[in-house]
Amino acid sequence: MDSFTFTRSTTVDQAVQLAAKSLTAQQGAQVRFVAGGTTLVDLMKLNVERPREIVDINSLPLDRVEPSPAGGLILGALARNSDVAHNAAVIRDYPVLSQALLSGASPQLRNMATTAGNLLQRTRCVYFRDTAHACNKREPGTGCSAITGHNRMLAVLGTSKDCIATNPSDQNVALTALEATIQIQGPKNKRSIPIHDFYLVPGSTPHIENVLRPGEIITSVTLPPPVAGTNSTYLKLRDRAAYEFALASAAIVMKVSGGRIQHIRVALGGVGTKPWRSFEAEKVLEGHAPDRALFQRAAEAALKDARPQSENAFKVELSRRCIVRALTMSTKSA
Ligand SMILES: Cc1cc2nc3c(=O)[nH]c(=O)nc-3n(C[C@H](O)[C@H](O)[C@H](O)COP(=O)(O)OP(=O)(O)OC[C@H]3O[C@@H](n4cnc5c(N)ncnc54)[C@H](O)[C@@H]3O)c2cc1C
Repeated sequence: MDSFTFTRSTTVDQAVQLAAKSLTAQQGAQVRFVAGGTTLVDLMKLNVERPREIVDINSLPLDRVEPSPAGGLILGALARNSDVAHNAAVIRDYPVLSQALLSGASPQLRNMATTAGNLLQRTRCVYFRDTAHACNKREPGTGCSAITGHNRMLAVLGTSKDCIATNPSDQNVALTALEATIQIQGPKNKRSIPIHDFYLVPGSTPHIENVLRPGEIITSVTLPPPVAGTNSTYLKLRDRAAYEFALASAAIVMKVSGGRIQHIRVALGGVGTKPWRSFEAEKVLEGHAPDRALFQRAAEAALKDARPQSENAFKVELSRRCIVRALTMSTKSA
C-alpha cells in the first residue's frame, strides 16, 4: 500500500500553494487535486496513479454556473456534471453540452463528477489501466501493448507509434465544438487556454496529455456568448444505450441562414487521441446549402487522415455516419 498525505484546502490560493510546496519539498512528487474522485480514486486503486500528496478541493467556491461579463457562461471547475447538464441557461443556449453530459456515465457518477475532473479524466485503454502490461502513457518508454493487442475501442485520429489511446470524454467534445476557454491558476500567475490548445496529441510523449503544469489548478471553463440562431446536437454511438463510452460521437454547432450554412463547428469523440475538432469538415460545410451529399463530403474530409488498427477499422465508417446523422439532426431542428 502506498502512503500519501491528504490536505483540505478552502481557498484557491491555498490549494495552489499546498501543491507548490509539496512539489518543491518532495522534488517533483506527484500532487493531485481531488474533486469528485470518480477517476482519481479508481486509478489509485489500480496503482495507475500513485500520488504522494492529495489536495481536496471540494470546499473551494468554484461550483457555480453563472453568466460571464461577455454574455457567455462560466462553469466553475467544481460544478457537478448533473448541475451543468440541468442548468436552464445551458439547456437553452448550449444544448449540445447538456446532451453530451447526460449521455455520459450514470446519474450517480454525474452527481459527483465535476467540470474540471471531466476535462482531466484519463483514457479507458485497458493497457493503461492494467499495470501488468506495457504502456507508454503510464510508464514512458515501456511500449504500447494496444497497437498489437486489443484496440477495438481505441483512436484512429491523432495516433502515434507510441500511443493510440482515446480521450473518452463526452463533455470535452461538446466544449470543443463550443470553443470553450479553460481558466488556470498557478502559484505565480493565471492563464486562459482555448480548449483546442489545451490537449496534446501523444506523439512520442503520450504521458503529457495537456498543457497544465504540475501544481496548476483549473478554476473555471468559459463558454463564449451563444451565436444567435444556432442549433447544436450531440450524437453518441456506443455498444449499449447507457453507461458506456463512445465508439464514435459528434458535437455539431450550426447556423443555417438564407439556405446556407453560416456558422459551423464540428467536434468528434471516441475516435481521437484528444477531443477532435474537425476543421476539415467545417471547411467543406461553411457557406454551402445543407444536404446529404454535402454532409457525406464533410464526413469523408473529417476521417481522411484516419489510421485504423487491427480491430477498429469499423470506427472510420461509424464516425462518418455519426457525423452525417448529427449534421442532419442539427439541420432538422433549425
Ligand atoms: C463507470 C464509469 C463510467 C463512466 N462513463 C463515462 C462516459 O460515458 N462519458 C464520460 O465522458 N465520462 C465517463 N466517465 C468518467 C467520468 O465522467 C469522470 O470520472 C469524471 O468526469 C471525473 O470527474 P471527477 O470530478 O470525479 O474527477 P477526479 O477523479 O476528482 O479528478 C480527475 C483528475 O482531474 C484532476 N482535477 C480535478 N479537478 C481539478 C482542478 N480543478 N484542477 C486541476 N486538476 C483537477 C485530478 O487531480 C485528477 O487527476 C465514467 C466514469 C466511470 C467510473
